[in-house]
Parts: sequence; structure tokens; C-alpha cells
Amino acid sequence: MDLTFKQFRIQCTHPFGISRSTHDFYDITFVYLEQEGIIGRGEAAPSKRYGEYPNHVVDQLKKINHIPPFNTAVEGDTWFMSQSHGIKSLEAALSMAWLDWWTQKNDQPLYEYFGADPTHQLATSFTIAIGDLNLIPDKIEEASPYSIIKVKLGVNELEDKDIIRRIRKETDKVIRVDANEGWDLETGERMCHWLADQNVEFVEQPFKADNLGDTALLKHKSPLPIIADENSMHSGDIEPIAHAFHGINIKLMKCGSLLDAEKMIQLARKYDLKIMLGCMVESSVGITAASHLSPLVDYADLDGNLLINNDPYAGVKIHNGKIILPESPGLGMSLNSDIENLL
Ligand SMILES: [Mg+2]
Repeated sequence: MDLTFKQFRIQCTHPFGISRSTHDFYDITFVYLEQEGIIGRGEAAPSKRYGEYPNHVVDQLKKINHIPPFNTAVEGDTWFMSQSHGIKSLEAALSMAWLDWWTQKNDQPLYEYFGADPTHQLATSFTIAIGDLNLIPDKIEEASPYSIIKVKLGVNELEDKDIIRRIRKETDKVIRVDANEGWDLETGERMCHWLADQNVEFVEQPFKADNLGDTALLKHKSPLPIIADENSMHSGDIEPIAHAFHGINIKLMKCGSLLDAEKMIQLARKYDLKIMLGCMVESSVGITAASHLSPLVDYADLDGNLLINNDPYAGVKIHNGKIILPESPGLGMSLNSDIENLL
């Protein structure tokens, strides 16, 4: 089996801002596994919040030189995990590419491998990034194909409320709030009560990941569900945080292997936690891989590919705001015919 890769810069349609930083583009790496005329595709979208950078991904990829034959999907996935050197975005890319290859070889869509029912179509939220507040009407207009809006807050209470009020002037759609670790306990308590009157569905990661104590306090006071993101990295995190959150956000770039994401889903069900599937800003490769698990979860926030304007691939589609999985074997990726020459 041959391993190749290609670095690529995805361009954001609007500068993508959260409480920590703003980006106009992200550098990702496409990973390809090829054998018997079948190409498996994966994507690493490293996040500096987790100490991962594009050069880490590439440097580690260069060290992988002999891929042994595998008898099962799990055997291959385990081997690729061992080659990732703890770089989760790389682990995700290799797991995607491997399982894309394996399921194409076995002539089944990836969702079928996970026992997921593709007719169970979740609506995805669409993110409105923090930026020029005067652009909010335009951004709401742009979000018109989607039934749920996700907003990045966590700047400060006055500004956060201003953003929500401006959105509410334009639309009464359900809003999901992501505070991106930006609040303290008092702000979190006040905001959760205030947001509960604004048709907000839940609040994601109100406090810093190392502040589990305050999160547990807020869980019992908040009228809105509290969802873990920065606190919910991989399957090993679920048990220790189950008391402090109502649910978890699973992202492949945090947990790495798709099989660990599957394990997170099983553990979250065990602890009676709600499950969201989320993403970084990614191309259709990463988003399609995550989408194959979406019938197994409660909420989808899989809009990373909708926020860029130079996606070289096409896979998962959105129809009436809902996720439509490709039915062809594997991930079901094809080159995006509009911008085929980008790669
Ligand atoms: Mg988040």
C-alpha cells in the first residue's frame, strides 16, 4: 500500500473568528492510501489549540515508509494510530484514508461499516463567526439554507448579548452557542439564564477545560444543556467529565481514529450524555468522514466545508439543511468539478 500526501490551503469565505483567534485560511494535509487501484482519502486539519501544526503532520508522515498488509479494518486502524506519534489530526487523516480504502475494497459505504442508518438525516448547524457586527444581517441571509445557527461567543457579556440581540432582529431560528472557554462562573450563570429566553438550544464549553469544578456547578444551575468540547477530546475523557456536562462534542481532529469516535458514542450513551458531532474548518473529506457517523448521534455541527470557498472535493451534501450521505462505497468522495484544478 502506497502513502502519499498533499498540503493544501483552504480559504475561509469570511474571516473565521472565535474568542481565541481569527483566521482567513487554514493549512490542511490530504493523505492518500493506494493499493489495487483503490484510493483511500483522509484529511488532517491540525488545531493549534491542541498544540498541533501542519509541519508536525508532514514531518510525521515522511517517517511512515513501509505499510504492512492487514487482515481486518481494526488491525489497520490500530497500526496507523501507532504511526501518528500522538498527532490526533494525523491519526484522523490516516484512519479516514484507511477506512475509506477498506470499505471501498469491501464495496460498502462507510456508514454501513458503522451500522448507521443513512435515512436518519440530522440537520447541521451553520456557524456565524464573530467579526464585524454590521455584517450579521448578511451572515443570517447566507445561513438561510440551514435551520440551526451556531454562534461563537465568549468575548465578554455585553458584546455576547449584543451579538445575540442582533441575530434575533433577523431570525427566530434555533441558536447553538459556543463560548469557547471564554466565560467565568458568574458570567456563565447569567448568560445561560439570559440565553434560555432567546431560543438557544445549548451552550458549548463555557469555561476553560481545566475548570471542571465550576462546570459541574453550572450544570446544576443552568436551564440550558452544557456540552463539552475542549473537555471532550477522546474516549478516555468521557467518564471523568460525565458529572460536569450534559453532553459531548466529538471531533475527529481531537479523538483521531474514527473507531475512537465510535467508542466515544458508545461511552456517552452509557453515561446518558447527549452527543454532538463537530468539526474544525475542514474540506469535504474530513466533514464527509464525520458525517458517516452522524446517524448515530443527537446533534450535527458539520459545517466546516460550508465555510470555505475552495473545497477541492465533494462528498456529503446538504439538502433542506439536512445531511445527505453519499451512497457509493467508502467515504464516497469525488473531485469537486467546479474547482478541479485546485489540487
Ligand atoms: Mg467548540
